[in-house]
Amino acid sequence: MNFKKINFSSFSSFKIGKSIDVALLDECSLEAKNYYLIGSCNNILMGDNPPPLMTLSKKYDYIKVENGLLKIGAATPSGKVASYCKKHNIANFEFLSHLPGKLGGLVYMNAGLKEYEIFNHLSYITTCSGTKAKDEIEHGYRFTNISEPILESAFELAYGFDIQKVEIFKKMRSNQPSTPSAGSCFKNPEGDYAGRLIEAVGLKGKRVGDMEFSTVHANFLVNHNNGTFEDAIYLIKEAQKRVYEMCEIKLECEIIVLEKNI
Ligand SMILES: Cc1cc2nc3c(=O)[nH]c(=O)nc-3n(C[C@H](O)[C@H](O)[C@H](O)COP(=O)(O)OP(=O)(O)OC[C@H]3O[C@@H](n4cnc5c(N)ncnc54)[C@H](O)[C@@H]3O)c2cc1C
Repeated sequence: MNFKKINFSSFSSFKIGKSIDVALLDECSLEAKNYYLIGSCNNILMGDNPPPLMTLSKKYDYIKVENGLLKIGAATPSGKVASYCKKHNIANFEFLSHLPGKLGGLVYMNAGLKEYEIFNHLSYITTCSGTKAKDEIEHGYRFTNISEPILESAFELAYGFDIQKVEIFKKMRSNQPSTPSAGSCFKNPEGDYAGRLIEAVGLKGKRVGDMEFSTVHANFLVNHNNGTFEDAIYLIKEAQKRVYEMCEIKLECEIIVLEKNI
């Protein structure tokens, strides 16, 4: 396998991590099973000792229309998909203009904004072992049971890009901080909001070192500049502990923590 060095203190949306050699997945092989696949690291808190890492090569960065489907390589960035859909007047992907990530990561996480989720118009995915239709994949709120690298996703093709939706998605972001983060830190527990719970236990605005539960939106763990993995973990555990003590709700991380030694 070929490798490329990635400096996670600039690459990851959290701006945390060191420089690490990351394997490039170009062709499927048994060796790939030894690596943890990353996309553009918009949902990952990177420790200094993560498992061996792998990312898809440029080969998987493409968009094409074929047999009435929109087929997107898993290494394609969301912004590129949104621009393509705008240019070609394609509907249903407007929300990707305000949702960072690559297509593989977006599908694996079933990422979305409110009721607009990437699975809504998914037809099937292609992985190293072949294709899997949407109804063969368990999925829900920020969850799928996909267990191998996604190489391509195929979506229903519909025309009519809606520029007004782009404005709506932009507005949805207006109560969220622009300081580096990985988006929502915890999943919303059923019937409640993680941000409300974090505020209720007195952690909105709580800062340790340069990491903070944002004063703008408490469920955003933000890095003011030199935040560390350890400070982030301290705050995550503190929120889980306090919320459990207050109302016996187990806050589940939406962000993925990659560190062998915790
Ligand atoms: C400012 C900000 C706001 C955000 N807002 C939202 C939001 O509103 N809604 C939302 O849902 N998310 C949000 N996120 C989180 C993030 O945008 C999504 O989780 C996105 O799907 C991450 O994509 P990625 O390529 O960065 O994946 P990564 O963070 O690199 O990886 C995430 C997970 O996907 C897996 N993965 C990556 N590529 C593949 C692949 N090809 N095949 C199989 N598995 C793969 C990884 O193993 C990992 O488990 C936000 C993030 C930020 C920084």
